[in-house]
Amino acid sequence: MSFCKKINSAYHVCMKLTLDNPILLKDSGIPGKTVAIFAGVHGNEKAGVHALEQLADKLDIKRGKLYLVLANPEAIKANVREVNINLNRLFLKGNTGAEPEDVIARNLMSILDQCDALLDLHASNSKNTKPFIIFNKFSEDISRLMNFEIISGGWSNFHQGSSDEYMETLGKCALCLECGSVFESEKNVPLAIQSIKQFLQYFDLIDRSVEYNSEPQVRLNIFKVGIKETNEFKFSKHYDDFEMLKEGEIFATDGNKKYVAGSNEYIIFPRENKPIGGEVFVLAK
Ligand SMILES: [Zn+2]
Repeated sequence: MSFCKKINSAYHVCMKLTLDNPILLKDSGIPGKTVAIFAGVHGNEKAGVHALEQLADKLDIKRGKLYLVLANPEAIKANVREVNINLNRLFLKGNTGAEPEDVIARNLMSILDQCDALLDLHASNSKNTKPFIIFNKFSEDISRLMNFEIISGGWSNFHQGSSDEYMETLGKCALCLECGSVFESEKNVPLAIQSIKQFLQYFDLIDRSVEYNSEPQVRLNIFKVGIKETNEFKFSKHYDDFEMLKEGEIFATDGNKKYVAGSNEYIIFPRENKPIGGEVFVLAK
């Protein structure tokens, strides 16, 4: 007898989570919340992928239902952020796109529509970074319970089509965890595992097994996303994630345009090497 239930042409719900069977539904059979945990929406961000692979067999769900999802298996196999286009801008109602990532986004939205909450595990492509949380309108409380030094909001205004923004449009809680640098994925697996347990115990799917965070956190609000306008875009120097900018400094130029820092501003995801129209930095305060 097969345990697999076909839910559409591309995905199956199976008893074992693998890159060939990337969606695992754990159903306790007892009433409770339905939640999803995604990893590998960006295929090279491996901390969450390894955490899910390690936990999938062990998690004992006491109440409710849990979807574990290796979101972009082809990108994970190839260890690339995306095969064709950025999956994390495609969670849009009415998405009719034809790229493989559009098909994945539609499949995953059909899962999110059944869920009360989402935990989406990512990592930063910067070498020097810090683990941080992106919360949406409904998840700031939970982000305070996790062991991340930095929590940040306001992203939904700039990142339409991200998984957390999609959940926000449904009035639901979602967290995107940036689990450190992609250059040290193994080091950040324990943080990802701890966060998964905190998330599941918050929603009462598992019995309490880990403590919640008790350390103070820095709360940042995203207020600007820089978009590349010309091929002359460049930063004035190398910036790391969360580097504080000096008030009045010109931190980047783009053709004739100068970007000048205000007071108490931090730069996140500085990336010169993007096509025109691409996101070259995020500012927070
Ligand atoms: Zn990512």
